[in-house]
Amino acid sequence: MIGKEWKTIVRLFTLPAVMVVALGGMIFWYDGVALAAEQVLDPDKVMTTVAKAHPIEPLLLPGEDSRFPTAYREETKDLAVTAHQIYQGFLILVNYEHLLPEDFLPEELTVVNDMVDEAGESQFRVNKARLQVNKTAAEQLLAMSRYAYEKDGITGYLLQSGHRDFSYQKALYHNKVQYYRGLGYGDGDAATAAAVWVARPFESEHHTGLAMDVSSRSHPGLQTSYYQTDNGLWLDENCWRFGFVVRYPEAKTEITKIGYEPWHLRYVGRPHSDYIRQQDWCLEEYYDFLYKEGGYTFRDEEGDIWQVDYQPLGSGTIKVPAHRPYTISGDGSKGFVITTLLESVSAAH
Ligand SMILES: [Zn+2]
Repeated sequence: MIGKEWKTIVRLFTLPAVMVVALGGMIFWYDGVALAAEQVLDPDKVMTTVAKAHPIEPLLLPGEDSRFPTAYREETKDLAVTAHQIYQGFLILVNYEHLLPEDFLPEELTVVNDMVDEAGESQFRVNKARLQVNKTAAEQLLAMSRYAYEKDGITGYLLQSGHRDFSYQKALYHNKVQYYRGLGYGDGDAATAAAVWVARPFESEHHTGLAMDVSSRSHPGLQTSYYQTDNGLWLDENCWRFGFVVRYPEAKTEITKIGYEPWHLRYVGRPHSDYIRQQDWCLEEYYDFLYKEGGYTFRDEEGDIWQVDYQPLGSGTIKVPAHRPYTISGDGSKGFVITTLLESVSAAH
């Protein structure tokens, strides 16, 4: 009997509570989306979507720019994933602890030289014949050089290196070891010293096509003093806008085990580059956070709201949003990052 009464009470309170939360969600939704809402959303649909959501949870409260942990506010569906996919996507972590498998194949390599037209040559040039980079990363690299010129009058970027295959990396590493041997280092010390500047084969993210060395015509050599040039400084401050991070920051060499390389950019995509910059992390620290918290919800610089979730491979099934576009990337070791654009106020994405 008591059970029945409780059920009635719960029913009586649940519906108004759902309505209040839904209404609150709508108000915030309209507050955030402003004009764009009219074009993309039918108010009835908003109500249906929010009321159906379980658990019902506000995205971000007014004044809040990020929160975690996160839970999908909409329906999810199961997606089958394989161990192979752990090495696909823009977010694979490659370092001295996370090696690429021998059968690794980079995705969507494209010849960057073919993408630069005469008009763009003053802003950006490729310093090698047929230099290959991941297609999306290449597009963003060129868009970034155009933006640097149009917004701040910066020109003369020079792409020095992109994708490398395993045998080329082996040769590079071997040469560096020889260089230190020539200086009188013993075998072990030469290998250790070389690894600070040239990653060993399978440990270099240049294999992925997502890493590139970008210097400038006025400062073509890859030296840390590049940071003090207009081009280097501009990259450091702005590359996140186009989904890049300076992969080996000066303050993080203890973690990355790689010397400061202000020219080495890594494409990770938005909103990851934005969040990593805001937190002042390197990619290793970003993963420490994702593994610990499981994800986050984040309002980016343009006001778009993203949800990022980390899920381990487990038995081969992960949860993804049932009704929204999402992207998925392996982490290069044990699971997947699922990225969903929850609310867009800009057309930039
Ligand atoms: Zn590099």
